[in-house]
Amino acid sequence: MKIVTCVNHVPDTEAKIKIASDGKSVDTSGLNFILSPYDEIAVEQGLRLKEKFGGEVVAVSVGPDANKETLRKALAMGADKAVLIKTNNLCDSFVVAEALKNYLKEINPDIVLFGKQSIDYDNAQVPSLVAEMLNLPSVTTVVKMDFENNQIICEREIEGGHEKVVSQLPIIISVQKGLCEPRYPTLKGIMASKSKPIEEKNYNLPEHKVEIVALRLPPSKSAGKIVGTDVSAVKELVRLLHEEAKVI
Ligand SMILES: Cc1cc2nc3c(=O)[nH]c(=O)nc-3n(C[C@H](O)[C@H](O)[C@H](O)COP(=O)(O)OP(=O)(O)OC[C@H]3O[C@@H](n4cnc5c(N)ncnc54)[C@H](O)[C@@H]3O)c2cc1C
Repeated sequence: MKIVTCVNHVPDTEAKIKIASDGKSVDTSGLNFILSPYDEIAVEQGLRLKEKFGGEVVAVSVGPDANKETLRKALAMGADKAVLIKTNNLCDSFVVAEALKNYLKEINPDIVLFGKQSIDYDNAQVPSLVAEMLNLPSVTTVVKMDFENNQIICEREIEGGHEKVVSQLPIIISVQKGLCEPRYPTLKGIMASKSKPIEEKNYNLPEHKVEIVALRLPPSKSAGKIVGTDVSAVKELVRLLHEEAKVI
């Protein structure tokens, strides 16, 4: 089975985000970047499929050289190959999808795994855009995956329940938390990842269609209120939760 996992290089979830002086981008100085957490699930699922059906797992990322760090993490987890589609230009979801489409058209994978959303800009658009560009079926927010009679059976998380769908391969899938638990790279995997080559691709990419005109941080939270430290505080706490916070 030819498996591709698309991985994005994003600010660490623990990072303290600062807006740059232009007021419309993130100040990346001193920021630690990581493999986007949902993409880690995609890599893990790719590795499990390879372990079950054989084949290879290719990790691919669109962006500048810095994304190689994230590709090395995917290699350390066990991906066979890593590909960087190089661009230093401003990319929106559309440009990222165009770049991925170009590469996927060249290699014709059986299954392409994405995170359900990238935790930087949270658009959750790239997987569906790629599916549309390639005219392939796509299933999003997948929490369970099986194969039967050359078909893939997926369970998707939907509001208040699960939906079961069936499709043919090749297919575009975006994965949701709960599908599988990503493995930690072993020391052997980390060492091996350092010597695995990262293939670079260059495509003529279109201009972005969406422009960020302003970014701002959420308003800072007001300080917490301690109502009391023993059982006598319960009545007042319930009143505040009911009348002020309106959560009960
Ligand atoms: C207008 C605009 C300007 C931006 N400017 C910059 C900028 O100047 N510098 C910068 O670093 N970022 C910038 N970004 C963010 C960056 O391009 C995003 O990473 C990109 O838009 C993808 O994030 P998303 O929220 O659209 O992905 P989603 O659609 O939420 O991602 C879903 C899945 O698609 C896959 N995916 C997403 N991005 C990639 C990728 N790059 N490579 C491989 N797979 C991927 C992953 O599997 C991910 O889980 C900008 C975004 C926008 C919209």
